[in-house]
Amino acid sequence: MTSFISKAPHMEIKYTQIFINNEWHKAGNGKTFPVINPSTGEEICRVEGGTKSDIDKAVEAARNAFRVDSAWRKLEPSARGTLMRKFAELLRRDIAYLAQLETLNNGKTLINSKIDIMGSAACIDYYAGWADKFTGETIPSTPDTFIYTRHEPVGICGQIIPWNYPILMLALKLGPALACGNVVILKPAEETPLTALYCASLIKEAGFPPGVVNIVPGDGPECGHAIVVHEGIDKISFTGSVEVGKKVQENAAKSNLKRVTLELGGKSPLIICEDADVDFAVYVAHEAIFHNAAQNCIAGSRTFVHSKIYPEFIAKSVALAKKRIVGDPFDPNTQQGPQINSQQFKKILNYIELGKNAGARLECGGQKAYDKGYFIQPAVFSDVKDDMIIAREEIFGPVMCVLKFDSYDEVIERANATNFGLVAGVITKDLTRALKFVQELQAGSVWVNTYAAMKFQAPFGGFKQSGQGRELGKYGLEPYYEVKTVVMKLLSKI
Ligand code: NAD
Repeated sequence: MTSFISKAPHMEIKYTQIFINNEWHKAGNGKTFPVINPSTGEEICRVEGGTKSDIDKAVEAARNAFRVDSAWRKLEPSARGTLMRKFAELLRRDIAYLAQLETLNNGKTLINSKIDIMGSAACIDYYAGWADKFTGETIPSTPDTFIYTRHEPVGICGQIIPWNYPILMLALKLGPALACGNVVILKPAEETPLTALYCASLIKEAGFPPGVVNIVPGDGPECGHAIVVHEGIDKISFTGSVEVGKKVQENAAKSNLKRVTLELGGKSPLIICEDADVDFAVYVAHEAIFHNAAQNCIAGSRTFVHSKIYPEFIAKSVALAKKRIVGDPFDPNTQQGPQINSQQFKKILNYIELGKNAGARLECGGQKAYDKGYFIQPAVFSDVKDDMIIAREEIFGPVMCVLKFDSYDEVIERANATNFGLVAGVITKDLTRALKFVQELQAGSVWVNTYAAMKFQAPFGGFKQSGQGRELGKYGLEPYYEVKTVVMKLLSKI
């Protein structure tokens, strides 16, 4: 087994406490939890673990920040945008440190951390632009009646995010919430709280009033649950697994029927037609599954390939997967870092066993790569059948599953035969065929001759059990405001 040698720099971890009201707090119950470096399995530091009493405190701070006469509520909308742009600027200023911290804590390659941070700043800038532009409507009526709508912030928003894109998820959540004038209590994933806490310090430095953004690290069952059931929280935005998403919706309804938006999992099809340029298709399919160590809700995890190009596609995909450099995420040559934790690592290796046992052909990879950490060699399975567990469940690991098809009607039906519906991809030069796929695939985004083409300006979200509601773009604002209808009767005499 190859020994793992880390090039990680020595880093000072500046923030490990709970951020409420622009101040740092210890956990109410005095407990901390360990944060692990996935490249080594070793502890980086301990972080204060929030529970119900800390969420109560955060809600009180957020309520004060949301009072009608508060500094935040009295700001002109354009001034909210200015604060957000300042935050984006600070993300860019500290990109070197933040990227190292993200890579240390999450294991993604340093270059990907930098891309995520640039994207986060761009996302905040994009939503800063909306702060003074999301207007209500005037509605035609009789001459003596004036009807109009006001867009008002929902209030206190609980935001719960996963570990796969720690800073980017934070930006995606904060952007629309703050643009609409809400206040936020955000819980990062317990695996990756470090960059979120550093971002908290930048929120304060940018000049946001106390209580507008509160960041409470902690686990799901205690800290996340306390947010979901809190009677003082008006809305939940959750990104994570379907299993937890269902609990979130149920518990939110049982408490105060708070508004809920969900971004959940996927088992997304990428369909490669017989007219595709095979080299291009191989590259797209490779990145679609293996990017970010395949820890992507949008992973192209069912690769459907037309039977006419299937043998060539498999041979070239295997060659590319074998060349993929798995290793230290601080090494500039590395293409794939570790999986996030030992639980995910074991789960993925188990899926690989299930695939082999079910009769799929493991063409390459699929084994532990180093003596420590959670590295897995990229695996390519051919001869995958629709009813195999590896073709049905979200693996969230570097496992390409290639399925063969003969006809286009058949592949559309097979691609749609899942409870998920997050995204889909199609590679073809035929416009008519592409448009047929666009119309018939059940997915929140369909990408033609590209993949993972997410843009901040364009909405993103799932059909079926992949989610509820949309994030990003103008649509991404909708969950963050209430529409108030005002009807005024004009008096006959003045
Ligand atoms: P997860 O559902 O286990 O955890 C996500 C978050 O929910 C974490 O912060 C966790 O602490 C919290 N949580 C756990 N139990 C909770 C509870 N009972 N109440 C409230 N909060 C709770 O998911 P994960 O394993 O961290 O992330 C992987 C999953 O996220 C995958 O299924 C992936 O597809 C999905 N994901 C979806 C998107 C998307 O935009 N659709 C993006 C990234 C990840």
